[in-house]
Amino acid sequence: MKKLLRNWTTDRRGNRPQPDAPAPDEAAHRLAVFEDIERGHAGWFWATDAAGRLSYISPAACERFGLSADALIGQPFTSLFETDPENPGERSDRPLQFLLGAHVRIADVTVRLMPDRCVPGTRPAWWALSGQPKFDVTTPGSARLEVGGAFHGYRGSARDITLEYERRIEDSRLAEFDSLTGLANRYRITRRFDSMLAAFKGTLRPATLMMLDLDRFKHVNDTLGHQAGDELLRQVAQRLTRVVGISGEIGRLGGDEFQILLADQEDRGKLGELADKIIAVISQPYSIDDNHVVIGVSIGMAIAPFDGTDREDIVRAADLALYAAKHGGRGQFRFYSSDLKDEKEERRLLEEALKDALALVAGPDGKPDPESWEDPQLSMAYQPVVRTDDHTVVGFEALMRWEHPQRGTIPPTVFIPVAEDTGMILELGAWALRQAVRDAAQWPHPLRIAVNVSAVQFAHPDFPGIVADALDSTGLDPDRLELELTESVFMGDSEVTDGAFKALKAIGVRLALDDFGTGYSSLSYLRAAPFDKLKVDRSFVESCTLSDQNSAKIIAAIIGLADALGMETTVEGVEAFDQRDVVCAKGARFIQGFLYSPPLEQEVLLHRMAAGELRIPPDGPQRHRPERRSVYRRIGVIHEDHRYEALLRNLSATGARIEGLVGVPVGTSLVLDLGAGQLAVVTVSRSEDATIGVEFEIPLVSDGAGGLVTRYRASPYALASAARMASTSTPQFLEVEVRRRA
Ligand code: C2E
Ligand code: CA
Ligand code: CA
Repeated sequence: MKKLLRNWTTDRRGNRPQPDAPAPDEAAHRLAVFEDIERGHAGWFWATDAAGRLSYISPAACERFGLSADALIGQPFTSLFETDPENPGERSDRPLQFLLGAHVRIADVTVRLMPDRCVPGTRPAWWALSGQPKFDVTTPGSARLEVGGAFHGYRGSARDITLEYERRIEDSRLAEFDSLTGLANRYRITRRFDSMLAAFKGTLRPATLMMLDLDRFKHVNDTLGHQAGDELLRQVAQRLTRVVGISGEIGRLGGDEFQILLADQEDRGKLGELADKIIAVISQPYSIDDNHVVIGVSIGMAIAPFDGTDREDIVRAADLALYAAKHGGRGQFRFYSSDLKDEKEERRLLEEALKDALALVAGPDGKPDPESWEDPQLSMAYQPVVRTDDHTVVGFEALMRWEHPQRGTIPPTVFIPVAEDTGMILELGAWALRQAVRDAAQWPHPLRIAVNVSAVQFAHPDFPGIVADALDSTGLDPDRLELELTESVFMGDSEVTDGAFKALKAIGVRLALDDFGTGYSSLSYLRAAPFDKLKVDRSFVESCTLSDQNSAKIIAAIIGLADALGMETTVEGVEAFDQRDVVCAKGARFIQGFLYSPPLEQEVLLHRMAAGELRIPPDGPQRHRPERRSVYRRIGVIHEDHRYEALLRNLSATGARIEGLVGVPVGTSLVLDLGAGQLAVVTVSRSEDATIGVEFEIPLVSDGAGGLVTRYRASPYALASAARMASTSTPQFLEVEVRRRA
């Protein structure tokens, strides 16, 4: 100890050789001061030998390890500490070993006592270490430190900075994380995304931004209060964390706006699956202060470098995709694509057009303007529901149709959400109900009529009155009217919902739960609400003949459940005989689907009923084939180093039909350029005149909105360099002009 102390004090004088040794009482005084310092908490001392082993440490410092000095002396000094393991790569401190190995002076290096060097249960502690290397002084009398001299070890001091350090970490956490959910905040997500994009630019690694927007969050906030809203956001954050795991960084940017950053993920099939999973998990009901709360989520995705290379571009792209997802029917995801640019404008035009169309059938008084000379664009069509054992029609579902004079047919999946968002659904729905009831009242047979009711309509206090009026004015037996509701009706205020159910039951109409199995399908709803029927969603039928047998089992389970609860079931969307066989084997007694009939106009229906045609024999394909969409789109077809122009005529996930190339042998391998970097390798499976059939090497995946896209895309860098290469060879196939057939 004394010897050490002497070394130390000389050190403090900057390695100067002491011309005269201190007087004995001066040395004793120094020792006393030194020991006082050591015993207090202001600072401790340490020293190492030339081999880096601990040769001295203040006794008070040993207590932090929970060990005696004897247990620590002789240990490699650097093995006792670690530099900031919590934030690897985030701090500039080099590892202690590196610094001390370089025999340089260290000042306030933040280290943590290595947990496995401490007695178990010791509180985590952070120290700031400072120290000087000690060398032989080769030139006596020189005031200069001779770096060339032999190294003798370090002499240093240490300070406990645990409290200060923890506060610093907490501060940076607050600055970077959202205090409500613990997720990254806008600042952090932005910074992370910038650095991710900067790091990936050189290496062409992809990065995906997912933008999320909760549907109906505002409603929860407004009806249940801000605290419930906050709790909901916390639970959403937990669910997101569970689904996304370590594969991405999640942030809440404020309000109900969330973002997820995913590195090295460009497979749109996998991204779509992840988005679907997120949508499914977020849409499960929440329990908040004894309230049952249900929300939805829409997701927009953009991928660098395909959809842009800097943050602003990717954010804008993801935002457009989110906008499209939100307005494409809710609970959807969408990938960015360049044709989304017009979507906002497109939607505005659609709103205007719908307003006009509505005015033609239902003026302010709910009646069409008698002065108007324009033809109505909106109408109702009726699709038969057929009993499977004898093909007898037992009723019809009323479906809205919109034929726009310039734009052609606009499907209800497009305009109903617009009507819901703008509130037009109240008028539109009331018109549909009146029209359907009026039409049904004219049928010569007392068959049932089912009318779809949007949750927005159902939640309106006037709704039962509108139903009663429609029945009164036509004299239709209430038992013939069936209202099709979806599970989203339970999302509203439960008192209003209960009241509406009671009022409707008092009127005597029947109630059906539509699209069963697609939502959260809580069984408690079935117990609470007086449904007469469940409608099995079309999506189960679509996949029930595929090798994955789950859909068929789910159909059987739903039918079994409905039976047990004394409800009827209708299976929707049966298109082929093999599907009919499966659903009948699973117990289906009523079917609604194209195999029997598409929706029909009232006139056709009246005509058939008058002719006594109340049975419809099934008619359709033997086997269900995954849907091939008709398209009409110019694409590039690349063969060897030649590029041809051709027409894409239909498209499914696994294959396509292309027109415009003559003389392409079966078995030829081609690359289709579907635009925007979507290059797909295909093999020709059929070739006749100017038409070829091709099969994709890698099946296409859903774009979230009924469209198909390639899983991967060629990076814009690769496309740019390919474009510079000019073809020199002569084409092998003949390119012919194909005209659009009427
Ligand atoms: P939904 O209530 O599930 O109606 C069934 C849909 O499936 C209809 O589509 C029908 O044409 C279609 N469909 C029936 N059989 C088959 C089949 O075998 N194969 C295929 N691929 N499809 C089949 P539609 O008419 O396009 O209506 C779509 C949705 O729009 C409806 O789904 C409903 O949610 C909504 N909708 C339609 N009319 C109204 C309405 O008057 N009011 C409200 N609120 N919503 C409506
Ligand atoms: Ca329906
Ligand atoms: Ca349905």
